[in-house]
Amino acid sequence: MTITGHHLIAGLEVAANGPTFRGMNPATGAALEPAFADASEANADAALRAADASFDGLRLAPPEQRAALLETIAEEIMALGDALLERAHAETALPMARCTGERGRAVGQCKLFASLIRDHSWAEARIDHAIPERQPLPKPDVRRVMLPIGPVVVFGASNFPFAISVAGTDTLCALAAGCPVVVKAHPAHPGTCEMIGRAIVAALVKTGLPPGSFSLLQGSGTAIGIALVKHPLTQAVAFTGSLRGGRALMDVAAARPNPIPFYGEMGSVNPVFVLPGALKERAAKMAEGYIGSVTMGVGQFCTNPAVVIGLDSPELNSFVSTAAEHAAKVSPQSMLHSGICKAYDSGTAAWKDISGLNLAGESAAPTQPEASQAACRIFTTTLDVLEENEELKREVFGPCSIIAAGQSKEAVLRYASALEGQLTAAIHGTEQDLEEYAPLIRILERKVGRIIFNGFGTGIEVCPSMHHGGPYPAASHSFFTSIGTASIYRFVRPVCYQGFPDAALPEALQAKNTRQSWRLIDGQLTQDDA
Ligand code: NAP
Repeated sequence: MTITGHHLIAGLEVAANGPTFRGMNPATGAALEPAFADASEANADAALRAADASFDGLRLAPPEQRAALLETIAEEIMALGDALLERAHAETALPMARCTGERGRAVGQCKLFASLIRDHSWAEARIDHAIPERQPLPKPDVRRVMLPIGPVVVFGASNFPFAISVAGTDTLCALAAGCPVVVKAHPAHPGTCEMIGRAIVAALVKTGLPPGSFSLLQGSGTAIGIALVKHPLTQAVAFTGSLRGGRALMDVAAARPNPIPFYGEMGSVNPVFVLPGALKERAAKMAEGYIGSVTMGVGQFCTNPAVVIGLDSPELNSFVSTAAEHAAKVSPQSMLHSGICKAYDSGTAAWKDISGLNLAGESAAPTQPEASQAACRIFTTTLDVLEENEELKREVFGPCSIIAAGQSKEAVLRYASALEGQLTAAIHGTEQDLEEYAPLIRILERKVGRIIFNGFGTGIEVCPSMHHGGPYPAASHSFFTSIGTASIYRFVRPVCYQGFPDAALPEALQAKNTRQSWRLIDGQLTQDDA
C-alpha cells in the first residue's frame, strides 16, 4: 500500500495543504516519507458533516452489518501484512514482536465487539409493563434502552499504535454502538495511522455502510484537535494521552456552548505496596518482577509502576538492592519519539536535585541520545519526601520508578489516603498482610480503577470485567472504562419510551425477543419475550 499523506474524509482522499511534518524513526533520527500536513478547520468541518449525515445509516443498520464491518476491519488490517508492522516499527521503535502482538490485540478487539453487538443484551433494555388498573393511578408502559449518541472524535496515544489508535478500542466501540468516528491521527505514527485508516475505509465499502462513518485527519499541533472538539456536530470525545493534553481538551469540551462528554484516559503513578510478609517471603522475586514491569515497553505504559511503598526494614533494603542489580542489566532502548525521550531525561534529571531522593540503580550500558534511548533509573526515598514534593506525584513517562520507605503502617495508610486518582494500584502481600492492611484496600477503593494483588498493572486483559480508568487525574470520568467491552457505554445514552405501540419501538424493546437478548422485564433479567 502506498502511503500518500492525504487525509481520509468520508471515503475520499483529500490532499493536505497545511504546514507539513513527517513520521520520524526514533532509533535512527531519519525522517520518513511521505510528508503529512496539518488538517484545516474546513477539513474538520467536512469530516464532521459527513459523520453526522452518516449517523442514521450506521446506527439503523442491522447489528449483523456493523458486526461484519468490525470483522472486515480485522481482515483488512491483517491483509496489510508485514508492511504495516514494518511501518509501525519504523515510526515508533517498538520491537517487531511487540508490534505483532499489539496488532493481534487490535484485531481481537474487532472480533470482541462484533460478537458483543450481535444481540441487544449490551444495550441494557429495561421493560416495565403498564398496569392500567393500578390505584390510585394507572402505571404507564415504560421502556428504556441505550442508543448511540452521534459523531465521536478520537485521539489515540503515541504508545499504542494499534490498540489505542486509529482502530483502537475507542473507534471500534463507537462504530459498534453505531456512532460515526473522526480520528485525529497521532503525529508520532502518521503512516501507521493512514494504513489502518485505509483498512477501515475499505471495510466500510465492503460492508455497504455509509462512508462518512469514518474519517482520519492528520495533524501535528493543537489546532486541529481543538477544532474537532469545538465542532458543534461532535457529540463526544475519547482521548488517550498526557494529563496536560487531556486536561486542555477536557476544558475545551466543557467550555462549548453545549458541553459534551469528554472521556480522557491520562497518566498515573500506579503505586505498588510491598507489605511486610511478602517482603520477608520473596523480596528478590518481587524486585525482579518489578523491574520487568517498570521497563516493559521502555516504561511507556500508563500503568507503569512508578512508585513502590514499603516499611523501612532490612527486607525493603534487600528489595532495593536486587531491583538495582536488575536495573543495571537493562539495556537502554529507543523511546517512541525524541520528545518523549527528552521529557524523560529532563524529568529524571530534575529528580536528582530533590534532597532526600537518591539514584539507587540505573542501566549500566551507556545510552545513545541520537537514538532517543532511555536508561532504566530507580530511585529511593522516604515517604515524607514523596509526600512533600508535588513533582513526585505525577508520572515521568519512561522506565523510571521510586521506592519509598515509610516508618509505620500509619504512614503508609496516610500516604495512600493522600493519593490522587490512579488507574491502578498493586498490593504485594500474604493473606496475613491483607488482614493487617485491610484499611489499605478500603482506601484504595476510593482512589483507584483497578487493584491488583501480587502482580503489576502492566499488561491489561481485554475482557468484559476490565476497568481501565480511575478518578481524576487518571481519567476525566471515573465511571467509564476505555478498555474492555464496557467501554461502549461511553458512546451511548439511555432513551426512555413511554406508552409507545410495539412496532414504533426500537427492536431491542419490542415484545418479540428475536435475538434472545437479556432484558430486565418487570424487574427480572430474562431472555423471554416481553
Ligand atoms: P499526548 O502528547 O497528550 O498526545 C495525545 C494526542 O492528543 C495527540 O494526537 C496530540 O496531538 C493531542 N494533543 C495533546 N495535547 C493537545 C492539546 N493541548 N490540544 C490539542 N491536541 C492535543 O500523549 P502521548 O505522548 O501521545 O502519549 C503518552 C501519554 O499517554 C502518557 O502520559 C501515558 O501515560 C498516556 N497514556 C494513557 C493511557 C490510558 O489508558 N490512560 C494509555 C496510553 C497512554 P499533537 O501531538 O499533534 O499535539
